[in-house]
Amino acid sequence: MKDPAASVPAAFVKETTEQVRHLEKVYYLAEWEAALSGSEQALRRVREAQAAYLGFWSDPHRFQTARQLDEAGSDDPLITRQLRMIYLTAARGQQEPSLIGQLTELESRVRGRYYNYRACVDGRELSDNQIDEILRNSRDSEQLRKAWEASKRVGAEVAEEVREMARLRNASARVQGYRDHFQQSLELDEIDERELFDVFDDLERRSESSFEKLKAEIDEALCSRFALPPEQLRPWHYGDRYFQKGPALGEADLDSLFEGRELEALARDTYRGLDLEVESILSRSDLYPRPGKNQHAFCIHIDREGDIRTLNNLQATHRWAETLLHELGHGVYERYLDPQLPWLLRAPAHTFTTEAVAILMGSLTLDPRWYTEVLELPSTQAQALTEAALRNDRAGKLIFTRWCLTMTHFERRLYADPDADLDAIWWEYVERFQLLKRP
Ligand SMILES: [Zn+2]
Repeated sequence: MKDPAASVPAAFVKETTEQVRHLEKVYYLAEWEAALSGSEQALRRVREAQAAYLGFWSDPHRFQTARQLDEAGSDDPLITRQLRMIYLTAARGQQEPSLIGQLTELESRVRGRYYNYRACVDGRELSDNQIDEILRNSRDSEQLRKAWEASKRVGAEVAEEVREMARLRNASARVQGYRDHFQQSLELDEIDERELFDVFDDLERRSESSFEKLKAEIDEALCSRFALPPEQLRPWHYGDRYFQKGPALGEADLDSLFEGRELEALARDTYRGLDLEVESILSRSDLYPRPGKNQHAFCIHIDREGDIRTLNNLQATHRWAETLLHELGHGVYERYLDPQLPWLLRAPAHTFTTEAVAILMGSLTLDPRWYTEVLELPSTQAQALTEAALRNDRAGKLIFTRWCLTMTHFERRLYADPDADLDAIWWEYVERFQLLKRP
């Protein structure tokens, strides 16, 4: 019998793996370091590592070989899938060499602006967490407007660069025969654009009346909270920068559950209770806010060999408890991938599967059993909280659904025509899907 490892496809897979695993690790480590410090030096290392990584995948010869071998397939399903992964990644990397440099440069500049941007209100610099707190808690329309507007100013700073990024990405997609970068990204992510928008159209229809009803309830509560007539409600009254989550309407004060609690310890208990090991992830992670640090949260698997880390900016609130469990959900998904799998396949089967696991884990913070077993609340209190929390959760998911409709439709339009009046398109969608009034 022929040794399968000696076949052309197997040799191609092996050679590709040996070269790319090092490049990917260096790139991911650089990303991690840059997210921690935002320093010019760290951002430069990301640029270099990213250029090397993208340079590898941009090799047209590898792409052609991958395309031929992928089309021919193999008797071995592991080889077949690896060939597909190489083909898809190489296809994503097919850019003009001159464009790679420009894009890396632009992306790095935009990333730097976001990491270092601090909204300025009345001469005071505010972090994203501080802005969020004002938007969530302030009862003063004028202060809300100022905080909201300050948080948006980063948009004006990056607007031209973002348009330019879209143009360059489109140029590169069109060389490959795609309509634009949006279509290319979906196809190479193994998502059918038609199916996606059918799902979203269906979501729009089916969430319409529930959302209208919810939005009317929210407006009524906000009118009395701010002593304003409905026509004077503006986007800054809705609790966050994008009306992604909606205002806390006082049904369930979940934040108070976390006052004085150590989120790290709660996460440990949660995962220990599920018999999932997160200690090795937490020990490599960076969990608390610092100046210069990326203010979001993410999970990264540096080497596909178990070096999994998460960046968070923990504060003792429900949102951060949920976020930490969410990111660790991504972490355990990766942690328990079969180590016997070939390197190229040691990654989530698809973004949506790892996201689903992460969302499932984050939603434990609304589960009555979690309240009694991890937070150790008395069961009567847990039950009462859960009912209110689930109502909040339903509202939150409806609001988030409508936000996703805005975002996805907008992104498609952004790439369809980066020179269009994007501000007008944005507010058109915000009004249509989220029922907000533009300022
Ligand atoms: Zn996630």
